[in-house]
Amino acid sequence: MENQAKALPAMIRAIDGAIRANGDNVTQLDQAIGDGDHVFNLQRGIEALLPLCDELAGSAWHAAFKTIGMTVMSTIGGASGSLYATLFLGMAKSLQGHEPDIRGVAEAFRSGVEAVKARGKADVGEKTMLDVLVPVSRVLSEGATSSAPIDEVLREVCAAADAGLETTRDMLATKGRASFLGERARGHLDPGAKTAQLMICAVCGVLLSP
Ligand code: ADP
Ligand code: MG
Repeated sequence: MENQAKALPAMIRAIDGAIRANGDNVTQLDQAIGDGDHVFNLQRGIEALLPLCDELAGSAWHAAFKTIGMTVMSTIGGASGSLYATLFLGMAKSLQGHEPDIRGVAEAFRSGVEAVKARGKADVGEKTMLDVLVPVSRVLSEGATSSAPIDEVLREVCAAADAGLETTRDMLATKGRASFLGERARGHLDPGAKTAQLMICAVCGVLLSP
């Protein structure tokens, strides 16, 4: 990847499109096991990032992720706001010491996800966004250190996000608002896992060769 985050505006716009296209579906999921505001929370963050696209495209990757983390922190409410801010600030910190190649990105994503786990005191199996983020991070790290072509790694990353999302359906929730529902949370996908899957697959779509 280039040193400057030139690909970021296309990624942010693709994320915006994917969240818009699936907004009603995600809201229904959050109404079933949360309080229904998850899409609204994310859209506040996305709307604050869209005007920053030009600035981000001219920044180094670590600086761009720092700006994204700070913006998300001050605009997205709810549990997901501080968790995504933690993810991006964790990635920013890690990218400062790494080349922005696929290995550096995989390592940055791994550190960001570790920071999210620590921040939310959660891990896989608790019906949260981590059920998508953790397997995605593992597949990305494996792909980045293999000799597989980047397009193949990106397809595997998106497939890992799909599979991780599906695992949340039959889980009990032990973190966040859904944990108050006990058995009633079973049978519903986690809304935060759904938006993580949408955003990750949107980014993979931008990076896949035409
Ligand atoms: P809130 O639950 O505060 O209304 P949102 O609706 O924006 O916040 O986000 C809810 C999502 O946040 C959940 O679907 C879940 O994926 C994620 N989440 C909640 N708590 C945690 C946690 N401790 N660790 C990781 N993800 C979490
Ligand atoms: Mg909510």
